[in-house]
Amino acid sequence: MGKIAINIVTGSIQQEEIIVGIDLGTTNSLIAIVRTDTHEPIALKETDGLALVPSIVHFDDFGNVTVGNPAKELLIAEAERTIYSVKRLMGKSYKDVGKDAGFFAYNIIDDGTDALVKIQVGDRFFSPIELSSYILKELKKRAEHILKVSISKAVITVPAYFNDAQRQATRDAGRLAGLDVLRIINEPTAASLAYGLGTKHHEEKTIAVYDLGGGTFDISILTLSNGIFEVLSTNGDTYLGGDDMDNVIVRYWQDQLGVTDTELHNFKSLAQQFRIRAEQAKVHLSDNEVYEGLIDDQAVSLTREKFNELIQPLVNRTITACQNSLNDAGLKALQIDAVVMVGGSTRVPLVKECVKNFFGRDVYDRLNPDEVVALGAAVQADILAGNNTEMLLLDVTPLSLGIETMGGLMDVLIPRNSKIPNKAGRQYTTQKDGQSSMRISVYQGERDLVQDNRKLAEFNLTGIPGMPAGLPKVDVTFLIDADGILKVSATEIRSGVAQSIDVKPQYGLTDEEVENMLLDSLTHAKDDIKTRALVEATTEAQQMLDTTEKFLSKHRDFLTDDEVALTWEHMNKLSEAINAKDKDRIHNETEILNDVSRPYAERVMDAALKDAMKGKKVI
Ligand code: ADP
Ligand code: MG
Repeated sequence: MGKIAINIVTGSIQQEEIIVGIDLGTTNSLIAIVRTDTHEPIALKETDGLALVPSIVHFDDFGNVTVGNPAKELLIAEAERTIYSVKRLMGKSYKDVGKDAGFFAYNIIDDGTDALVKIQVGDRFFSPIELSSYILKELKKRAEHILKVSISKAVITVPAYFNDAQRQATRDAGRLAGLDVLRIINEPTAASLAYGLGTKHHEEKTIAVYDLGGGTFDISILTLSNGIFEVLSTNGDTYLGGDDMDNVIVRYWQDQLGVTDTELHNFKSLAQQFRIRAEQAKVHLSDNEVYEGLIDDQAVSLTREKFNELIQPLVNRTITACQNSLNDAGLKALQIDAVVMVGGSTRVPLVKECVKNFFGRDVYDRLNPDEVVALGAAVQADILAGNNTEMLLLDVTPLSLGIETMGGLMDVLIPRNSKIPNKAGRQYTTQKDGQSSMRISVYQGERDLVQDNRKLAEFNLTGIPGMPAGLPKVDVTFLIDADGILKVSATEIRSGVAQSIDVKPQYGLTDEEVENMLLDSLTHAKDDIKTRALVEATTEAQQMLDTTEKFLSKHRDFLTDDEVALTWEHMNKLSEAINAKDKDRIHNETEILNDVSRPYAERVMDAALKDAMKGKKVI
């Protein structure tokens, strides 16, 4: 029998292990559970009353690690040892980070390769996975302290546009923190769930999730139908958020007080004060008309009106992104059934007002916008714990997944936007007689030729027993689990030889790359169709040539010299057509060669049949 604990938060006997929901944010992270008594999701708060843990990790000279508010206080004074925004680096190589590297005040190692980035603090090196695991460990510790039970299972959220590598990195961070990550779910999906959207049967809705956090803005359009969430489009700006509002206030006060950029740069504690006061002013103005404070004994003030004027351009940029997202989804603002507000910065009245105006309707803002993602993760955790058996949540794949077939063609097994978890399979065979191994190359992307897509993994199915070409039956199966992690397996049916691989990509794609891959597939669609047709014709012709050549060497005796010459002539013509890369000519010549050789093949078959019948009774 397992341990029984009394849960002091929920006031009930805790028989089952609690599964927590975690929002691992760029700026803030937090942890939530569903109360067993009221079935309401709640954010876990320490005695300080705060649920949010700033996603900031500080290392001192002695190797001690602090996470959250104490680390945030050292952000400017000890910039090289205080790591923020690590979520931006998850699952990325230095190449992926590239031009954005200037954003980070700490040291990102550039080894110029595809390898995942490392961050240097003093003489130590950390991966983003390790750094995130420190944040998760802190959250776990908090939850255990508050709930007085040990926590080992979690649901963690990620942005909808996160690719496989970024999701895998998040999952690894969880494991490193001692958490069994039962599922990774999309942030907009979680936010919808927190409001109970998608928890009822036969519910069909189109939802916009507007998420303005500390440093990032995401707008996602989702449809939900019978508990299945599908992302129609995502848009946003990875460098737009509450921090930018703070920055415009800092600039405004700098001008008023006559403080130059150089002074701020040289006097870190002054810069820190400006930053802290600016954020205070912004937060204060969400509920008040005027802010008054002190920076270095000098009075500063800001009215709501002036603040609105300063941030209007920032808010306008989010509205443009909303319009783009609607366009991508092929929808009009009025077709959206619900608009969910997420992220601390949506507390700003001007933001709410502009979003309401744009969508022409009231928004969902009853829940704390900075808690709503974690609350939704807790709802999902509750479903996984079996407390809400009515529904199963599903997400979709961002890009198509397939394998390379003859001639470098992409054979899609799981199309883009397929629901996950998902399973798909197809049968393949060998090209050559006695072929004993088969290379399975897995690709992601929308183009017809694999060379234009992204290779995820490759393995060899070896030990196929010698058989004539076309006889082996190799079943290739793609299985995407609920976290979007792909498992590829191949089995040769006749012999039972099998091989499989978990696809954990070396490094991730940036959002831009995913977008470019989609755009590319549209611009090149016509070319791709042409290329595919040529490759297919060539493959078929090559097979025809191989078979005919084999036939000639085996059954030369059945043919007259003229017949052999005629066959060779058409084989040459077909080879020329292949070299000329002329699809129609290849088709024609293949047909002709087929017509020429068919009677010979029939002759051989008849002879074989007669042979077999000789001396046997026909029943
Ligand atoms: P993230 O998703 O990026 O981790 P959050 O959703 O926690 O971030 O949002 C953090 C941002 O919200 C910060 O810029 C913070 O200053 C801002 N914020 C928090 N509360 C308020 C408020 N009452 N008014 C305006 N901005 C706020
Ligand atoms: Mg967030």
